[in-house]
Amino acid sequence: MKQTPSFRKSEIILTGDRATGPLHLGHYVGSLKQRVSLQSVYEQTILVADMQGLTDNAHNPTKVSSNILNVVADYLSVGIDPSQTTICLQSQLPALAELTMYYSNLVSIARLERNPTVKSEIKSKGFERSIPTGFFTYPISQAADITAFKATLIPVGDDQLPMLEQTNEIVRKVNNLAGKKILEECRPLLSKTSRLPSTDGKNKMSKSMGNAINIGASEKQISKAVKAMYTDPGHLKIDDPGQIEGNIVFTYLDAFHPDRQYVDGLKSHYQQGGLGDGTIKKILEECLQEMLRPIRNKRTEYLNDKAQLINILKQGSALARENSEKVLFDVRGIFGLNIF
Ligand code: ATP
Ligand code: MG
Repeated sequence: MKQTPSFRKSEIILTGDRATGPLHLGHYVGSLKQRVSLQSVYEQTILVADMQGLTDNAHNPTKVSSNILNVVADYLSVGIDPSQTTICLQSQLPALAELTMYYSNLVSIARLERNPTVKSEIKSKGFERSIPTGFFTYPISQAADITAFKATLIPVGDDQLPMLEQTNEIVRKVNNLAGKKILEECRPLLSKTSRLPSTDGKNKMSKSMGNAINIGASEKQISKAVKAMYTDPGHLKIDDPGQIEGNIVFTYLDAFHPDRQYVDGLKSHYQQGGLGDGTIKKILEECLQEMLRPIRNKRTEYLNDKAQLINILKQGSALARENSEKVLFDVRGIFGLNIF
């Protein structure tokens, strides 16, 4: 499951993002860049997961509703092209909720409890026993999202690997019940940075943890975040040899700097001693400022035309709704329910 798969002749790509905040650098390197390069080659659908966003935000629904268009603007600003990619809104596709209901009957509580990503999210969100049922079962709803499009390839960060495993288990159960292949198994497409850490290095960069550099961040926000970055605590004087491992500035340079050789040179200099934290942070800041400036400008333009964003989402949802209904019909049929 961990390896990046080789591409097949025809792939169907499905991926999505919870509408819980603007997208960040983790999304950019973990998934968005791949989506942009794959959209001209394969059929691609991207889902703004508003319902999944509500699973841990039902007490504060505006957090989700107010972020839907932000996420669409983020997509467009990094180069996702709605004429090549179907961008849709999860809540507008009723087939997904119905598929979730059928699949729920095929998954035990014990299996859900074993999902390591959900386990660690329950812990970090402090849910204990008051975990919302919708949150606990979101891997099932993700299986509905993926299978509704017969997706084969999913560009995701590594926190999503357990979800894809669970999806494939459901696919096998459904196909077994049907006695033939109705649904497709999927494979993850991991990027070389499949888990970008937060700037303090403590966790995965994530919308909900308030530890992110958003792709629409202002120059000031970028500068502040880089200055506060975690380096090597043992690197006290410039001349001291420094450590690369666990040094977040180098993790980010690896993920974002376009010149690999130059970064390798910086690493050996830092390891030998004589390269200050201030200098490597300045190099990283310049690189991020340059990369994010055009994205930020486009994002502002897109957000100034909300009617256009709504229209894109509406058109994409209509197309996706039609496609997802076809799979729903097949799955309903397996349970003998297409009686009229
Ligand atoms: P939330 O905190 O609300 O869960 P998130 O930041 O984790 O938000 P998601 O919408 O859950 O973002 O994830 C969308 C996609 O982006 C998934 O494929 C996920 O694996 C990927 N992703 C999220 N964060 C990172 C990260 N730090 N590094 C790499 N990929 C990431
Ligand atoms: Mg997440």
